Parts: sequence; structure tokens; C-alpha cells
Amino acid sequence: MTTTPDEIAVVGAGIIGLAIAFHLQREGRKVVLIERGGVAEGASYGNAGALAFSDVLPLASPGIMRKAPGWLLDPLGPLSIPPAYLPTIAPWLLRFWRASLPDRYRASIAAQCALMRLSSRAMDRMIADAGLSGHVRSDGNLQLYESEAEFSASLPGWQAREREGIPFEHVRGARLAGLQPGLSPRFVVGSFTPHWQTVDDPHLFALALFDKVTAQGARLIRGEVTEAVPSEGGAELRFSDGSASPAGAAVIAAGAWSRKLCDQLRERIPLETERGYNTTLPPGAFDLRRQLTFGGHGFVITPLATGIRIGGAVELGGLKRPPNFARSQIMLEKAAAFLPGLKTGGGKQWMGFRPSLPDTLPVIGASKASDRILYAFGHGHSGLTQCAATAQLIADLLAGRPSAIPLAPFRPARF
Ligand SMILES: Cc1cc2nc3c(=O)[nH]c(=O)nc-3n(C[C@H](O)[C@H](O)[C@H](O)COP(=O)(O)OP(=O)(O)OC[C@H]3O[C@@H](n4cnc5c(N)ncnc54)[C@H](O)[C@@H]3O)c2cc1C
Repeated sequence: MTTTPDEIAVVGAGIIGLAIAFHLQREGRKVVLIERGGVAEGASYGNAGALAFSDVLPLASPGIMRKAPGWLLDPLGPLSIPPAYLPTIAPWLLRFWRASLPDRYRASIAAQCALMRLSSRAMDRMIADAGLSGHVRSDGNLQLYESEAEFSASLPGWQAREREGIPFEHVRGARLAGLQPGLSPRFVVGSFTPHWQTVDDPHLFALALFDKVTAQGARLIRGEVTEAVPSEGGAELRFSDGSASPAGAAVIAAGAWSRKLCDQLRERIPLETERGYNTTLPPGAFDLRRQLTFGGHGFVITPLATGIRIGGAVELGGLKRPPNFARSQIMLEKAAAFLPGLKTGGGKQWMGFRPSLPDTLPVIGASKASDRILYAFGHGHSGLTQCAATAQLIADLLAGRPSAIPLAPFRPARF
């Protein structure tokens, strides 16, 4: 297990690590990916596949703080916290609440908008340069509401998107039915976001990017990094088998597991995981025209090349607890009620660990220990969407160039 001093070591071959590898190669850098499991078999494996550039409203919001108490009463609802995990996550929740206060919420939206604008441009470029356009669908997203009251409550969010120049259309009646035939009549209003894209399957998309970076010369080392520490030549990587090897620099892109590596550098970053669940039904389970969002129920339904994926939910339960697939099941049952005619048999259940910071923004920047050890993690619900922009920002930092957007909102030391 050896890296070399002329290589940039990227720890974690999820979608963030893969996009970083691709961007660094574009600049002529030699890259080695280090992955302890399978390529893109973490959160990047089974997510909902949205390139949701218009999804600029942070989770930490006044709206969530209003809905959370009701949701938390239902143990299988859109948001849950296993009681035994409450003491562990309490400090994160306190920060989450602070981030939802009006002035911080507005600052988070501004930072999220800047990152999403860059994400859209950087993703277009990555898709074109890596030859991934065959993996992308551009048919928008339809958010659905069961009452005029639920729709009215969503309007401040749409006004915020309007201020950012994000196109959308509120639809009813025949227009709504045309965008998605076969919907339950309980949905009376929809909001259509036409520029929203989805990938054919997030794992296939990541594997195609992996094929590209390996074809361009990146190496994959299978192993677990226990520490990345500063060294004269850049960074030294230490592995769980006791070996160590040098690299020109190290980028920690280990998703929800990145915190351990920051702890080793004595940098305390409040990274937690929002566990998410889904079921993927076989292709043909429903004639789904585009991704549907059921905001009031905290889940989405996505048409993939590999089937129909139904899922979402947030379980603040840490990295160790076994999955509770009753969560996948409850969303499947709701989906069957929302899309009468959905064939619910033959599904595959999955749980993934979203890496999440309490202010809904990722960490992108140099560690306190060294500017040759960089962090790129914590993308929460938006890692697929933001991977190319994150990669561009990391490439800028390593090259010592000014970054395309202000990095202060994403700096590791902001907590
Ligand atoms: C249900 C669900 C739905 C989602 N839907 C969307 C969506 O529609 N759109 C969107 O943009 N995002 C979505 N997300 C979020 C998105 O999946 C994540 O933000 C993204 O995948 C994070 O990518 P990552 O590379 O940081 O982490 P991961 O994909 O988890 O990759 C981290 C990798 O690091 C490896 N690793 C960890 N520690 C070490 C170590 N010490 N040494 C070596 N390797 C290590 C792991 O094995 C893993 O492969 C969703 C997430 C979930 C759970």
C-alpha cells in the first residue's frame, strides 16, 4: 500500500473524491484514490440521483423548526432521532437551531446559491469533458402539495428562489395532470422546476467517472486511512495495516466518516450523519415522467434507468446503529397511495449515510494543520449536485489560485 510524493492522495472514492480526482487530473496532477470499501458504495451508491441546482434552501430553516416537533412525534416520520442517540447529537442540534435563525438562514441561502450556481457550471463542464451526458435526464422536478394551505406555507421558499433567478411554475388541474399522469387527486397544486436534472443511476454515474479517471492514469489503493498528517513533502498517510506512505498532498473526502480523520488532526468539526432510506422498484413499476417531491412527507420518487427509487427521510442516528428498514417500507406504502397503480413488488431496500454539518453547508478548505491537507466533505443532501464545484474549489486551493466563489462560509474553522 504505497502512495508517492508526487501524487495527490484522495481519501474516499465516493462521488466527491471521484470528481476531485477528475479535476486534479485536468490540471496535470497525478492522483491516487484510497478507498477502504467498494468504489462509490457509500452515500454515493443509492441516493435519489438529483442534480438539484435550484435546491438552495438550507435544511436548517425556520420552516423545519416549525415542522420538526410534529414530525418527531411519529417514530417512522420524515425526521427521527432514536432516543438513545439524543445526548450524543444534542450539541449538533443546538447548532442546527442556531443556523435556522433568520440572519444565519439568509447567509446560508446566499452561500448555498453561490455554490449551486458554480455547481451547475462545473457539472456541465465535467459531464461534457468526461463524456457522461448519456447518464443525465433533463426533465425537471415536480413538488406536490395536498392542500392550498400546504402550498401557501411553501411560498416564502419560492419567493427566495425567485430572487435568485431560479425558474419555476406553479401548476394545477390539466397542467399538473399532464406533468405526471396517474397522480392521486389528493394533490391539488404542484411546483415545477424545469432546470432540475437527474442521473440515470447515481452508482452507474460514479462508476463511469471512476472509469474515466482510471483510464487517465489514476490509481486506486484499497485500504483504510487512519491518519493523514503534515510532512515535509506535503502529507503522510497512515493505514490501518500499520504502513505509512508520503504524498504531495491529501484530500479528505471520506463522506460521513471524515470526522475521525479530522479528530486525528485535533480539529473538531461537528460532522454528523443524516441517515436516509429508500426502496428501488424494478423498471416499469410506474410510468414516472420526472422526479416527484413530496415535501410534506420528506421523500422523493425518481425515475432511474435501473428502476423507480422511492425514498428520503432523515434519521439522526449516528454511524453504528443498524438500519431500520421500516422507514423504507413506510415511504413505499405512502408512494402506493400517492401513485395508484404503482407496482410495489420486487423492491430493494437501502440505507445511506449523508454527511451533514449543522448549517447545511459542506466543509471545503485547508485543515488547520497544513495547507497540504484539505477537507471536502459534509455535503448532506446535495453531494451529487455539488461534487464538480467542490472539486473545482479544491483544485483552486491546491494550485494557490483565487477561488471562483468566496470560501469563508465553507471553511472548516467556522464552528
Ligand atoms: C437517501 C439519500 C438520498 C440522497 N439524494 C441525493 C440527491 O438526489 N442529490 C444529491 O446531490 N445528493 C443526494 N444525497 C446525498 C449524497 O448521496 C451525498 O451527499 C454524497 O453521496 C456524499 O458523497 P461523498 O463522496 O462525500 O461520501 P460517500 O459516497 O459516502 O463516500 C465516502 C467514501 O469514503 C470511504 N472512506 C471513509 N473513510 C475512509 C477511510 N478512513 N479510508 C478510506 N476510505 C474511507 C467510504 O468507504 C466511502 O466510499 C442523498 C443521500 C441519501 C442518503
